[in-house]
Amino acid sequence: MATAAVPASRTGSGGVVRRRRRRVLMFPLPFQGHLNPMLQLAGALHARGGLDITVFHATFNAPDPARHPPGYRFVPVGDGVPSADLVPSGVDADIPGALLRINRRLREPFRDCLRQALALPEDDGDEGGAPPACLVVDSNLRGMQLVAEELGVPTLVLRTGAAACLVAYLAFPALCDKGLLPPTSKDKSQLDIPLDGLTPLRLRDMVFSPTTTHANMTECLKCLVDATRSCSGVIFNTFRDLEDSDLQRIANGVVGVPIYPVGPLHKISPCTEDSLLAPDRACLEWLDKQEADSVLYVSFGSLARVDGKELLEIAWGLADSKMPFLWVLRHGLLVNSSSSDDDDDQDKVRRLLLPGGFEEATRGRGVVVPWVPQQEVLRHRAVGGFWTHSGWNSTLESVCEGVPMMCRPQFADQMINTRYVQEVWRVGFELDGDQLERRKIAGAVTKLLCTEEGRRMRQRARDLRDKAIECVQEEGASKSAIQLLIDRIASF
Ligand code: UDP
Repeated sequence: MATAAVPASRTGSGGVVRRRRRRVLMFPLPFQGHLNPMLQLAGALHARGGLDITVFHATFNAPDPARHPPGYRFVPVGDGVPSADLVPSGVDADIPGALLRINRRLREPFRDCLRQALALPEDDGDEGGAPPACLVVDSNLRGMQLVAEELGVPTLVLRTGAAACLVAYLAFPALCDKGLLPPTSKDKSQLDIPLDGLTPLRLRDMVFSPTTTHANMTECLKCLVDATRSCSGVIFNTFRDLEDSDLQRIANGVVGVPIYPVGPLHKISPCTEDSLLAPDRACLEWLDKQEADSVLYVSFGSLARVDGKELLEIAWGLADSKMPFLWVLRHGLLVNSSSSDDDDDQDKVRRLLLPGGFEEATRGRGVVVPWVPQQEVLRHRAVGGFWTHSGWNSTLESVCEGVPMMCRPQFADQMINTRYVQEVWRVGFELDGDQLERRKIAGAVTKLLCTEEGRRMRQRARDLRDKAIECVQEEGASKSAIQLLIDRIASF
C-alpha cells in the first residue's frame, strides 16, 4: 500500500516515529454548539497529527469549506431531506425529538456517502488521499455510528458537553427505575430533591424540557449512552482541572472505554470555529471605549428562545441596571417573531422588537446586535460579567476568560451546567424564578458587576482560566490527551 507524506511524531524517549498518512472522518451534529468543537478538534488533529480530514455534514447549518485548509473534504449528507423536519422549534424546543429525526433521516444517506468514501482510491489527489482511520462522531449521532460499525469503521465519540453531564445522563435509567423520573408533580418540594451520588444536582435539573416527552428523552439518552459505550474512546471538550472528579468517575469504568479530555478545544485550536452567522465586529470597538470589567455581555446561544413578555423584562432589566451592556438579540430569539436572517435591514427589525423608550433609556451605554465574535468579546478587558443560558460552550468560553456568569438555563444540559457554575466552581449564580422579572434582573446585574460577591466570583473564574491555560501548554494535561488520541487514531 502506498504511503503519502508522513508527519513525524516524537516519542517519550525522544525517538521519532514515522507514520503512514491517515484520514479522519468526522460527523458533527448540525448545531453551532456542536459544529464548533468538532471543527476545532479537526483543526488540532490536522495541525498536530498531520491527519487529513473528511467532514460529513447535514445540508442545513453546513460548515463553510472555504474557511478550512487544504487536506479537508466536506461531504453533504441527505440532500433533499427537508431541514424543517430536523430543526427543533418552539420556546422549549423538543431537541431530543429533533435528534431522533436527524438520526433516522440521515442514516441511509450516510451509508451511501460512507461507502463511497471507503471506496475512494488511496493517494488520488483531492478525491482520495490518505486512507480513513476512523469516524469521530457526535455523541448524539448513534445512527451514524451504527452505519460505521456495519461497514467496519472504528468510531470515536465526541462529547461536546461537560463530563458532569455525561455522569448525570448515565444515571438517568436508575432514576427512572426508582420512580423519580419523570417527576409526578410540579411541586417545588419534589423537584428540589437532591440526587444521591450526583451532588449538586436536583431532580429538576434532570428534566430536559417541559415539551420533551419522557419517551423521547429516554430513547435519546439511551442512544447517547450506547454511543459512548460502543466506541473506541470518548473525547471530551473539558479539562482536567475543571472536572477532575467526574472525569475520574468516567475513567474508572462507568463507560468502559478510554477517555480523552482535550479541552478547551477553542484554546487548543483557535480560529477554527465556523460561525453560522456573520458576527458584528464593530461591538469590539465599542468595548474598547468602556472601562475594565464594567460591561455585561448578554447572549442565550444559538437555540434558546424567549417570548415577548420575557424580551420586555430583559430589556427593562438591563435598562434599570444602569450598567453598560452588549446584548446579542439573535434573529429568531423571539418566539413567533416574523423576522428572519433574510430580512434586509436587521437594525430596523431589532428596533421593532425592542420596547418603545428603551433606546433612549440606554443610549450610550447599551449595544444590541444580532451576533458577535463571542470568544473575542469574553476576552475583552471591558467585559465584567456574562448573562448566559449556560450552554456548555458558552460556560467553558466564559471560564476560560475568567468572566463570572449569571445563568438563565432553559433546557438540555443547561440546568446541569448552571448548578456546577453556582455550587461547584462558584463562578456565578442562577437567575431563578418561574418568570423573568426586570427588578430581579437589574439586581442580579448589580450583584455580578458591582459587589464584593461578584468580585470573588470573578477571581475564582480567573483562577480557573489560569488552570485552563496550563492544560493547553505543551506538556499540559489536554495537550497530552490530544497526543494520546492521535496515537490511538494511528493505531487503527
Ligand atoms: N456564539 C457566537 N456568537 C454569538 C453567540 C454565540 O459565536 O453571538 C457561539 C458561542 O461562542 C458558542 C456557541 O455559539 O461557541 C453557542 O454554543 P453553546 O453551547 O453555548 O450554546 P447552544 O447554542 O448550543 O445552545
